[in-house]
Amino acid sequence: MSSSASLQRIDHDFNTRAVHAGQSPCPVTGAVIPPLYQTSTFIQQSLVKDENPYFYTRFSNPTIEMLEEALANLEHARHGLFFASGMGALSTLFLAMLKPGDHLLGESNLYGGTDVLIRKILAPLGITASFVDATDLDAFRAAIRPNTRLIHIESPTNPMLKIIDIAAIVDIAKAKAIPVSMDNTFCSPYLQTPLDFGVDVVMHSTTKSIAGHSDVIGGALVLNDDTLHERLKFYQVGFGATADPFAAWLTLRGLKTLGIRTEASCQTAMQLAQWLQQQPQVAQVIYPGLDSHPQKALAQTQMRGFGSMITIKPHGGADAAEALLKRTSLFQLAVSLGGIESLACIPARQTHAGMSVDDKAAIGLSNDVIRLSVGLESFADLKADLAQAFAA
Ligand SMILES: *Cc1c(COP(=O)(O)O)cnc(C)c1O
Repeated sequence: MSSSASLQRIDHDFNTRAVHAGQSPCPVTGAVIPPLYQTSTFIQQSLVKDENPYFYTRFSNPTIEMLEEALANLEHARHGLFFASGMGALSTLFLAMLKPGDHLLGESNLYGGTDVLIRKILAPLGITASFVDATDLDAFRAAIRPNTRLIHIESPTNPMLKIIDIAAIVDIAKAKAIPVSMDNTFCSPYLQTPLDFGVDVVMHSTTKSIAGHSDVIGGALVLNDDTLHERLKFYQVGFGATADPFAAWLTLRGLKTLGIRTEASCQTAMQLAQWLQQQPQVAQVIYPGLDSHPQKALAQTQMRGFGSMITIKPHGGADAAEALLKRTSLFQLAVSLGGIESLACIPARQTHAGMSVDDKAAIGLSNDVIRLSVGLESFADLKADLAQAFAA
């Protein structure tokens, strides 16, 4: 189902493409929103597979293809693949690109589930890994081994919100002909398009800001290379990491408002970060848009906004952090991020609980670190929620 090219030109603005890319009205009924093809299989007109547009939904499905085309368009990519979850996307990527004996070089502060995948699932398969602070470019370069076959980064990192210099990491990797993959979940293509900096494969948990309504799990890989795309597709179909069409349909619906949702939550996050800095109960506020963030200037060179995530440390340690989150009501205690509602969590005890104590200590992730995901509620209400929690 190829949609009309005029509606998805790359020279249209982001918000226009988010609404139209990959999609065209139903040619049969004129339905403005393309129908959901909630089917597992497709009637074959002949036994020659190529003579049929679709075969079986684990291989491909029109609703899923619309989303894949939209995601590719927004990330300035040729190809998109939609998965049952972000981890489905990542495990397919790693297992398609790495074999026993290979080495993966990762940033030291990756998503907790990524850390578990690498250490607990890839390691027993004979795929080794090192994790190095990618803000230290010399140390990162020095960690490359003769058998390093993939470099994997995130920026801003989760939850410490370090900014990784994407172009510099790509330079280091290209010098050794090593592909680079990047988890762009924290930014979404609205704020950052890593393929423009030479990254080879961008990965998303679309569960977060892309779908944006905390009601559907999904993941994506977007890339330009035709051969690698075919390989990833082959692995995806083989592993069965394909998503359900309804998940793709919900994700497409959420995607249409990604730009305006992100603008609103970034603006509120900036206001909240500035306000939090002035609160005597707060020991530290980390937000890339604050002048106190050591990499604000770098963020401005590769991000189109500073994001909706704020990391804080209250005075009083882990007990104070836990008590604070018991007293908030709009900031609900839950993992996940990028949704319409604001959430708060203690990453060391929740999202990153699978990391060893030493590894957490190495990146400064103590039990008093609170991660805030700022949603679409008003700044005044969110501020009041935190203020009453501090005052109690
Ligand atoms: C949530 C998340 C993932 C995992 O995605 P799922 O959709 O939960 O499988 C990976 N990376 C980041 C940065 C995430 O926030």
